[in-house]
Amino acid sequence: MQVIEAIKNSKKPIISLEITPPNKGQSIEDIYRVIDTLIPFEPAFINVTYHQPQVVYEEKNGVIYRIPKRKKPGTVGICAAIMNRYRIETVPHFICGGFSKYETEDALIDLHYLGIENIFAVRGDPPPGQREFIPERDGHRHASELVKQIVNMNHGIYLEELENAQPTNFCIGVAGYPEKHYEAPNFEKDLLNLKYKVDQGAHYIITQMFFDFEIFKNFCERAREIGITVPILPGIKPITSLRQLSVLPRDFHISFPAKLVEKMEAAKTPNEVRKVAIDHVVKLCEQLIDFGVQGIHIYTMGRGTSSYELLKGLLG
Ligand code: FAD
Repeated sequence: MQVIEAIKNSKKPIISLEITPPNKGQSIEDIYRVIDTLIPFEPAFINVTYHQPQVVYEEKNGVIYRIPKRKKPGTVGICAAIMNRYRIETVPHFICGGFSKYETEDALIDLHYLGIENIFAVRGDPPPGQREFIPERDGHRHASELVKQIVNMNHGIYLEELENAQPTNFCIGVAGYPEKHYEAPNFEKDLLNLKYKVDQGAHYIITQMFFDFEIFKNFCERAREIGITVPILPGIKPITSLRQLSVLPRDFHISFPAKLVEKMEAAKTPNEVRKVAIDHVVKLCEQLIDFGVQGIHIYTMGRGTSSYELLKGLLG
């Protein structure tokens, strides 16, 4: 089923999960353990992130070799394995970085053959050690271009002219940033770029994590004002430790409300910190549901316990 149908057909806000492939060499059982913990909450779909390789150059016998080292391969395989094992919709993330549009087309055809009808289209970040995002030659610079290519395929338009070409039927999600994407010159411009992505044919938006209800509310209201009408699902990260108060702002360009930081810092034990943090995220989800969101998308980051605590607190 397409994600957009699941969102629209559900009488209550849906729950969806996002997982990250295990590091190369680790077992897929780790992922099954996370899903087994969370499956009782009946997630409507599971997203699987995509990770670009870091390209390194190694010299052997005077010859320089270009070696793409991918720490977390397997996005599409994991999606197929989850669908097969749990009979649940999966949404592979698909990035612009590292792909020419021809490679993108072939990869989309693979997904189509596998029966995967959902894609989350993002640009991708520059690989570690690189400051700026550089598209592949013949690749896409912005997620909106990737969306456009997928929509074209949904209309049977491939990169070369093909007779009686079969259309695909992908439902497309894109990323939104309640606290602005870090490269955008300002919030308004970023929102207009998001609208452009939706105008190209994206069906729904999932947001970057945030920890303050007012930030999401403002984002939604401003998005609606400029004519973005598709569902906006809040991305929720159940935090549990003081360390995350500095790591997450650095890695994801987000902020924490002062009151939450104060409360977490005042907690006397790691267990107390965890309780304060999870309670905050449960309350945030309750506010979002009262506000009328059509779903809650949970960043599990490969760990089931904190997501379980959040969902238990929220749904009982
Ligand atoms: P874009 O929509 O292309 O936007 C990037 C920047 O360019 C923004 O500042 C935007 O305002 C600007 N912009 C957009 N269009 C234009 C235009 N036409 N002209 C000028 N400026 C423009 N990364 C991964 O590598 N793998 C993942 O699996 C992954 N999953 C994610 C899931 C979610 C829910 C989110 C929120 C992010 C995810 N990311 C992932 C991170 C994402 O790749 C980065 O945030 C990336 O820097 C931007 O991606 P985007 O799709 O938002 O890019």
